[in-house]
Amino acid sequence: MHVNWPGTRCVLCLSEAPLSKEHLIPEALGGILTCSFLCRTCNSTLGASFEAEARADPSIRIAAHNLQLQMPELAQRLIEDQRFISEGPGGNERGIVREGKFRVKSRTAEDGSLIQPTDLARKSVGKILRIAGAGDTPIAEALKRLEETGENLRMTLAPGLEAVKWSVKKLQLDLSRSKLMSPLVPLKIGYEFLACHLGCAIYDDAPQMRELRAALRGTLEDDSYFWVERLNASECEPFHGIYFEGNSPYARVLIRLFGWLAFRVHFRRLSVAGPRFIYTHYLDTSCEDIRILESQSGAL
Ligand SMILES: [Zn+2]
Repeated sequence: MHVNWPGTRCVLCLSEAPLSKEHLIPEALGGILTCSFLCRTCNSTLGASFEAEARADPSIRIAAHNLQLQMPELAQRLIEDQRFISEGPGGNERGIVREGKFRVKSRTAEDGSLIQPTDLARKSVGKILRIAGAGDTPIAEALKRLEETGENLRMTLAPGLEAVKWSVKKLQLDLSRSKLMSPLVPLKIGYEFLACHLGCAIYDDAPQMRELRAALRGTLEDDSYFWVERLNASECEPFHGIYFEGNSPYARVLIRLFGWLAFRVHFRRLSVAGPRFIYTHYLDTSCEDIRILESQSGAL
């Protein structure tokens, strides 16, 4: 859904630069609610860092893992390049998913053996044998044996050189070094959603608007203007939602990602006039729904 923007200035830096299409919910999370109200500079600055932060958040990673059946393509995109631990007869190993396949992290085990992805292992075998003085024929034979031997079977490639192609039975998320996304990501979603409510009034120079823009542009001096609460629902569901909860006692926007991870953004010095919208994007069917609730009085 593309929301038409009535203004000509960027809602973040207020410049008159040409406006570009912004995804309110990050595109990396499958967001398709868009509005052309950011200049290219603000769009690319927010885009690169916020998209990466959002997809690396542990709750987002768990949701992508749990919703693979309901939204296979998006789950696959979210899983790509992320860290996992493989389980199998060879033990547990860390690695990442590349092009949909688990790629083990290369390391030297305690007994001195090398653990490597198969394509690297092939190169290592060739190198080891060449250093040991082997000619082209024994190297080709060793590589053929490596190719043809089944998984989980110990094979002798050359005197003193053994290998096993361990199978992967299961992949677990590796959340050991994952970081929660910055509260600025939900603040951005909430601010942009309010912009859709306010139209050109978002350009207002009142301190509460100036401080929100400063926070999003990384030059915040006073963070008393907003507060982002992080919440979790009981289970993952394939939808994203944004809901303007009204103005009592100040404007609040609730954001739900994959039904499960939620943020309530408190705009502590802001009251927003106009109708209240609830936006829902169903990720299994790609349907979007926008409902208008009753009008609320209030002003900036
Ligand atoms: Zn801008």
